[in-house]
Amino acid sequence: MPATAAANLTKPIWAQVWVSTPRHSGLQAALTYRCDQHLAAGHLVRVKLGTRQVLGVVTATQTQAPSDFPIDGIKGIEEVLDALPPLSADWRQLISFAARYYQRSASEVAMAALPPALRDLDGVQLARRLKKIDHVDAASPTPTLGQTLTKDQRAALEAIASADRPVLLFGATGSGKTEVYLQAAQRVLAQQADAQVLVMVPEINLTPQLIARFEARFGDQALAVLHSGLTPAQRLKHWLRAHLGQARIVLGTRVSVFASLPSLALVIVDEEHDPSYKSQDGSRFSARDLAIYRARAQQRPCAVVLGSATPALETWHAAQTGRYLRVDMPERMGGAAWPALRLVDMQRQPAKATLSPPLLAAIASRVDAGEQCLLLLNRRGYAPVLSCGACAWKSQCPNCSAFRVFHKIDRSLRCHHCGASQSVPRACPDCGDQDIAPVGKGTEQLQEHVAQLLGDMRRCDGTPLRIARIDADTAPNGETLSAQLQAVHTGEVDILVGTQMVAKGHDFRRIGLVAALNPDSALYASDFRAPERLFALLMQAGGRAGRDAQQAQAPELWVQTWSPDHPLFAALRDHDYARFAQDELAQRQVAGLPPFVFQALLRAEAKTQAQAQTFLLAARQSMWDAAQQLDVTCFPVVPMAMAKVANIERAQMLLEADSRAKLQHLLSAAGETLHALKRGTSGRGVVRWAIDVDPLSI
Ligand code: ADP
Ligand code: ZN
Ligand code: ZN
Repeated sequence: MPATAAANLTKPIWAQVWVSTPRHSGLQAALTYRCDQHLAAGHLVRVKLGTRQVLGVVTATQTQAPSDFPIDGIKGIEEVLDALPPLSADWRQLISFAARYYQRSASEVAMAALPPALRDLDGVQLARRLKKIDHVDAASPTPTLGQTLTKDQRAALEAIASADRPVLLFGATGSGKTEVYLQAAQRVLAQQADAQVLVMVPEINLTPQLIARFEARFGDQALAVLHSGLTPAQRLKHWLRAHLGQARIVLGTRVSVFASLPSLALVIVDEEHDPSYKSQDGSRFSARDLAIYRARAQQRPCAVVLGSATPALETWHAAQTGRYLRVDMPERMGGAAWPALRLVDMQRQPAKATLSPPLLAAIASRVDAGEQCLLLLNRRGYAPVLSCGACAWKSQCPNCSAFRVFHKIDRSLRCHHCGASQSVPRACPDCGDQDIAPVGKGTEQLQEHVAQLLGDMRRCDGTPLRIARIDADTAPNGETLSAQLQAVHTGEVDILVGTQMVAKGHDFRRIGLVAALNPDSALYASDFRAPERLFALLMQAGGRAGRDAQQAQAPELWVQTWSPDHPLFAALRDHDYARFAQDELAQRQVAGLPPFVFQALLRAEAKTQAQAQTFLLAARQSMWDAAQQLDVTCFPVVPMAMAKVANIERAQMLLEADSRAKLQHLLSAAGETLHALKRGTSGRGVVRWAIDVDPLSI
């Protein structure tokens, strides 16, 4: 019903409204507007902000005139978009919580949570959109028959149905977790006539298979999809279907945690350990953590399932202490064998071998048997750096604290941080010497190298081997990635070279061998989460091998390392995530690291490093006394590990406390302090600042 149809009230209503204000404007609170027609909290409205008309969400209403400022200065609401049911109190509470916890304004969080296309619609246009969504009755999707569950799967399903806390579904790759998600959803939908289910995935482009399985089971009418790859019109349509309760299952990436789901009864977070659940800009929220908050805080009971073969240590710890309920599914479905670990001690291999002789022989034998091999290397391009043999010149990026990477395909030097690119100089820019050479290997060179080494081999039909590469260069977007992965699925590819991008979630049936060529840097990285990520990557990559139990040879996971005695590999050999987690957690406890402490980062970006640091030092000083009282440690201000990106200098300060509450208490005033400092002299040259609560990389 368009707003014009509503009768005018005799007494106005005063409304608090979240409006989209410019980022970092410092506007924290909701704004007050007057309204002369019926209005409820949660309604979308159009209001004036300065001279612009913008979208708003009503957060509260009152009939009593506000006493704290002159009411004739208060603007009227231009239009109430009451063709839409109001956003629920639960949704508004989620937005408020996220804003508070991650130190952003609620307006900003609310606007980022709504589909951008909503911002430009008036009541008439919105009504037209709503008419377009067919009013198919999605109330009762009739699922096709699922698999007969195994004993472990049944136990998991029961636990999900009866648990009074989040369930950690700790299941090996291929153990049938997805089937459990499907049947858990099925059960909730069958038991509650209006229930909705939210299924979150880390990266939608990498998991079309999951969408396909939900679609096949429930039909596409019941499903809505929310991720950044949709057009604005698609996103609006899916969002509306979720908001209206037409979509019973919403599948999406981290943004979907903010979807309006009035009848949410089950949340599933697949691959819950994946860092992509943490947003790296804006409010820097963790979609996994917010999912847990959302389910617990809302009025309607809602179960949460976190699924992973390698849970985040935070999650594992929560299960250990009983805050989450852990359910194990250790067996792979269909008797698929676990890959055996083959560690290659690189100290005993020929110097500078990218592919050690035993690994090369193993690859050749697999390919000979018609199996596929997956080779992982965590660097794209041809070589990470070019260097002059006669002087000290290296392909340093002038804009960043990083080297420009040599890409042979177009003979360019490209910076992977600022994107700047130049053609490769013919001679050393410093001394003129012609002897400039690539140092180290990236995926592009590895592909070439493998082709040289195995060039004589033929497939069983006599044609040459096909060696493909998938990384951010070959697959800049989801579509190209899908096409390239399809070629692997259909068996067109014999050897796939790629970055970790290909290790996630794909179901490659014929891969018999997976190899990580150079994973050592993660063992000794300054980032304390690096070993955790490496373990997850190797487990996940290993899970790609041996899915087809009919394969003649047992599947293998090869790792080339200079530290074969590292305990991480011993746990990996036994596929023993629990032992790895226990070791890591013990170390973290001794070292006083998360999840035993809670962290936040204050970050500043400025034209010079000194300016960035001056700003943070001022912040440090202004919060010092409060920090002492609360027992929050303010670490010294330091340049970030990547100190300069695109000519912007970056610095940070770490805050740490033994409880979330203390840290939150200190941070509650930080936003305003930083806004004020930025406007003052210590903000000179500061381009932007950010607060990152529970940061994933330090
Ligand atoms: P995960 O999500 O843990 O990686 P999946 O749910 O994809 O595992 O299951 C792996 C394979 O086993 C899939 O091909 C799936 O169809 C099959 N599968 C799952 N559960 C069963 C079952 N109960 N009976 C037979 N096959 C199953
Ligand atoms: Zn030189
Ligand atoms: Zn750069």
